[in-house]
Order: sequence, then structure tokens, then C-alpha cells
Amino acid sequence: MAKFDFIDQEMAQLRESGLFINLRTMDSPADGWMVVDGQRVLNFCTNNYLGLANDARLKRAAQEAINRWGVGPAAVRSIAGTQALHLQLERRLAAFKGVEDALFVQSGFCANQAAIPALVGRDRETGQQDVIFSDRLNHASIIDGARLSGAKVVVYEHCDVADAERVIAENLGQFRRGLLITDGVFSMDGDVAPLDRLYEVAQRYGVMTMVDDAHGEGVLGEGRGIVHQFGLQGCIDVEIGTLSKAFGVMGGVVAGSRQIIDYIRQKARPFLFSSATTPPDTAACLAAVDILESGGELVQRLWDNAAYFRDGLQRLGFDTGHSQTPIIPVMLGEAPLAKAFSRRLFEEGVFAMAIGFPTVPRGLARIRVMNTAVHTREDLDVGLAAFERVGREMGVI
Ligand SMILES: *Cc1c(COP(=O)(O)O)cnc(C)c1O
Repeated sequence: MAKFDFIDQEMAQLRESGLFINLRTMDSPADGWMVVDGQRVLNFCTNNYLGLANDARLKRAAQEAINRWGVGPAAVRSIAGTQALHLQLERRLAAFKGVEDALFVQSGFCANQAAIPALVGRDRETGQQDVIFSDRLNHASIIDGARLSGAKVVVYEHCDVADAERVIAENLGQFRRGLLITDGVFSMDGDVAPLDRLYEVAQRYGVMTMVDDAHGEGVLGEGRGIVHQFGLQGCIDVEIGTLSKAFGVMGGVVAGSRQIIDYIRQKARPFLFSSATTPPDTAACLAAVDILESGGELVQRLWDNAAYFRDGLQRLGFDTGHSQTPIIPVMLGEAPLAKAFSRRLFEEGVFAMAIGFPTVPRGLARIRVMNTAVHTREDLDVGLAAFERVGREMGVI
């Protein structure tokens, strides 16, 4: 056998099983309408909740930062890469989240790789291990951060507080310390973690708590996220966030008490061994915080749009699952149907992603609609009309 036959075999398998990923090419900024593979389409695929990815104020901030600071920091944060901009952003993010301190890293993915292995793992000398209690549907970056830590991972059923308590009671005693981790908003169903009750259980057992609010920032709690929505500022030990969704830019954040964040600054490998975020990104993030801090109106428009679209879909007879947020799944069942539906929507000028196994369980394939504040009522009516045409044609409604 030739050395790389395994690649050909696996690629063929991916194609046969319908799991092969085809990349579409964007030829315009992320916005309500986009040019995708040469076609102008109504966009329901990006995480640009508040429309900041193409906002004039963020673009100006990035341009000015390039003039003042250049394009790259040319160092990791712990050597020569910590620019005044980074510290300014960290102070602003801490205030935004209502906590003492925050660490800005390169992405939300990095934030989990930074925070989880810093807090839990396995003691090299004694061999003592820690334990992570993780929601079954947590994001891949949490799963990878947990694996990297060397801690034991115990999964509890999705958003099931009683099951979380059961696994804590059964396992905690055999380990050095425990950490409960949950997504804030789950990105495939658009449902929200019962954070207050999870916190209550974790607190009772002395387990540390971490929430990854990538899809909650700019959306829940008047834009300040899930912790704000539940009034748990200063209670949840670590909050993970991303600057690449509602904030519209790029970057990640780990937020919490001064004690914890100071410690993570000493320990986090993506922070210590990968270069700092660029000046234009960092400056654009600062401009995004300004808008989010004053941003009640944009957040309201996002929720109004999501409610309008959800009502419209339901009135047409579609099943919109358990969504409690602007992420709306349109449940279709089998993956081939969802794929064909998405393809037909695209031909009708609507860009909405099909999601199937293994991202979601078999039989629960869907089209996922990401609502934003940038769509107008007319846009949403165009979208609903396309869903109606394709839905009737394919016998879904
Ligand atoms: C999107 C997402 C991330 C990754 O954030 P990036 O900034 O894109 O790396 C991490 N966690 C959750 C829960 C997410 O939804």
C-alpha cells in the first residue's frame, strides 16, 4: 500500500456517507445579504447577531489602529506582545461582564484551551486527578480543552440538573477537585442552560463553575450574556466568551475573579506560546464593546426579528424545536432531506445551513437559521416565502 492510501480511503468514505464538507466561497462582507459562490443570497448562516462584522465604527477603529500600531504584535503576550490596547480591552471586558478581571486571547476556541487545563488536570507527582462535569452537547472546544487537561471527564445529560447532581455525587469523592462546564446557549438547538440551578448544585458540592457564553453575549441579558440574564455575576467562577460572534471581530475572553485570572495568565499555554491578537482586531473589539455597552436597541431588533421569523415558520407549519434564542432550528428529520432542503433554499436565494449527524443525533437533522439585527422585515418575508415554496415542494408542510 502506498503511504497515503489511507487518506484516499477516508475521503471516499466521507463522500459516501454524506459527511464530506464542501466549502462555499464568500465574495462580500458578512451581512444580511451576501455574495456566496457568485450568487447574491439572503444570509442566515453567520453569527453576526448585531451586524457588527461590517460596522463602519469597527472598521474605522481597525484602520486607525493600523496607522497607530501597525498590523501585528510580533510577539506572544508574555514577551513583548502585550500592547496598551490589550490591557484596555481586558479592563473593558471585565467591566462588561461585571467581574474583576479578564484575559483576552486569540479566539473562543483558544479561551477553552487556556482556561480548562489551567484549572484542572492530573498532578504529575502524586498522580491525583481532577474531574470535569460536562453537558453532553458542549462545544468541541470545551471537549478538546477537557481532553487536553488530563482530568477525568464525566458527561451529564443535556441541561439535566438532576443528572448533573447525580454524576457529581457519584464521582466527586474519588477526585482532587471538580469543575462543571456548560455552554450558555447551545448552538444547534438554540436552547439555554439552566445556569441558576446548575450553579446551586455545584455550589452545594464545592465544585468550580465555568460557562461558555459564545452565543449568549450580545444576545441574552440585554446583550451582556447569560450570567447577567440569571443575575449570577460574581457567582460563576469562570466565563468564557468569544469576540467573533456578536462582537463581530475575532478573539476570545476568559473572565472571572482577579485571583483566577491572574493564575490563568501564569498557566495558559495559548496565551504564553501563541502570538497576541493584532492591533486592528483588538481595536475593533474595543469599538464593539462600546456599542454593546450602549446597545439595547440592536439587541431588541435581534429578538424582534427572531420572534417574527419563528412565528412565521410555525404559522407555515414548520417544527422549530426547542429554541429560546435567535438560533432557530427547522427540524426535518433525516440528513439527506435537510441537505436537499438547504440546496433548494440556496437556489431560491436563501443561505441557511443543513446540519445532520454527527453534529446532531440521527433523525434530528435540520436547517439552522441564525437571525440577526441587520435583516429588515422585507428580508424576513423574502426568507419565509422561500421556506414556504421549498417546504411545500418537498412535502414538509
Ligand atoms: C463558536 C464557539 C466557540 C469558538 O469561538 P471562536 O472565537 O470562533 O474560536 C467556543 N465555544 C462555543 C460554545 C462556541 O459556540
